[in-house]
Amino acid sequence: MVKMDDIVSLCKRRGFIWQGSDVYGGMAGTWDFGPLGVSLKKKVMDAWWKYWVEDREDMYGVDAAIIMNPQVWQASGHTETFNDPLVECKECHNRFRADKIAEGVSEKVTTEEFKALGVKCPNCGKENWSEIKQFNGMFRTNVGVDPDNIAYLRPETAQGIFTNYKNVVDTIYPDLPFGLAQQGKAFRNEISPRDFIFRSREFNQMEIEYFVDPETWEEHFDKLLAGCHDFLEKMGLKPESIHELDVAAEDRAHYSKRTIDIEFDYPIGREELMGIAYRTDFDLGNIQRVSGKNMEYIVKGGGKRFIPHVIEPSMGVERLLMAILCTAYTEDEVNGEKRVLLRLSEDLTPYRFCVSPLLKNKPELVAKAQEVYDMLRKKYGNVTWDDSGNIGKRYRKQDEIGTPKCIVVDFDTLEDGTVTVRDRDTTEQIRVKPEEL
Ligand code: ATP
Repeated sequence: MVKMDDIVSLCKRRGFIWQGSDVYGGMAGTWDFGPLGVSLKKKVMDAWWKYWVEDREDMYGVDAAIIMNPQVWQASGHTETFNDPLVECKECHNRFRADKIAEGVSEKVTTEEFKALGVKCPNCGKENWSEIKQFNGMFRTNVGVDPDNIAYLRPETAQGIFTNYKNVVDTIYPDLPFGLAQQGKAFRNEISPRDFIFRSREFNQMEIEYFVDPETWEEHFDKLLAGCHDFLEKMGLKPESIHELDVAAEDRAHYSKRTIDIEFDYPIGREELMGIAYRTDFDLGNIQRVSGKNMEYIVKGGGKRFIPHVIEPSMGVERLLMAILCTAYTEDEVNGEKRVLLRLSEDLTPYRFCVSPLLKNKPELVAKAQEVYDMLRKKYGNVTWDDSGNIGKRYRKQDEIGTPKCIVVDFDTLEDGTVTVRDRDTTEQIRVKPEEL
């Protein structure tokens, strides 16, 4: 099983992911993506968009503002109930999320229940706990010059979809069922961000609100759930590492009548990768009540009208990236030496090809390699050049960042026009004409 430290160190060493504000000693719960990380992240987000929006006729996209009218969070219940159970160790004064340091309890754990479990402080090992306090996870900010004009950074992208439901119906009037998808940043003031990009304070979500006739919610729930599994497998995750957890009524979010968490076997244990929730008409109903605007959908032709019910598949981009990286990370041995490689699928790798001249001090090899490089860049775009160190080192570096094929221009190329193509996974080398790539 891959270790978390191996992933973190590879990501840092090769320019995928760094601690946020690294140069100033870091900023807890924030992560910055380097050139390779941003490429991978973008490809994953684009693949999700293509799968759920572009390849379907019943899905549409929106992109809402991050700072929303605070009424949104009152109506949605977040101001009141978006809380985590905060507990403090009275010995070392470290603070924790009670449900994350005790086994088998939910966010709704009470002080009495928590204290009865005999949990030791993960920091100092003592057992002397404060009462549990409810800590609201929304980031507050103030808007404009008035310090009392409070607003929040969105803790989920979902509300930006619900608030635009009526705009979409009024402008394009899609047939029911239909889904609205959004990708973007979400912010949560996590009590203790941890486990690399798994739990951070600023992250990306990809969410769909799928609007249905309430009588048909179960059928659509099952179809969307099946789609989630299919998409995760397309991202390279192995079905045996993916598990469904049917969340018990008392553990579900305040708005949900059914939730399935899709969990993944991370190196840190089996943890939530994404969730799919039946949110009923909770959100649109609240918007109608608070805004006074009618949220009913009028079925075309028949005149039947109702507030649609909603099924929400919600995925954290960074949690998916972590699952993809953990699945792709492989160690093997080549010629008696340990090798690290990322077995990413060709569609996700930052680069598709790496082109190099065998020797960088031979102008004729460099010129020919440059020609091949230009040709492949024109054709594929994501092609990199490497003429540093010796050829063995270049291969190792490209293996670590997942480049599927390394192309080397050598003296035979000048004779017969073929190049060496070396495969990341098998390390096998074949000779082909560059035009055939
Ligand atoms: P958890 O119980 O792990 O805190 P949650 O149940 O509160 O998660 P949701 O509110 O269902 O999470 O959010 C939807 C998705 O957003 C999650 O499945 C996860 O992929 C992602 N997510 C939530 N919180 C974070 C976070 N702090 N950092 C990274 N991703 C997150």
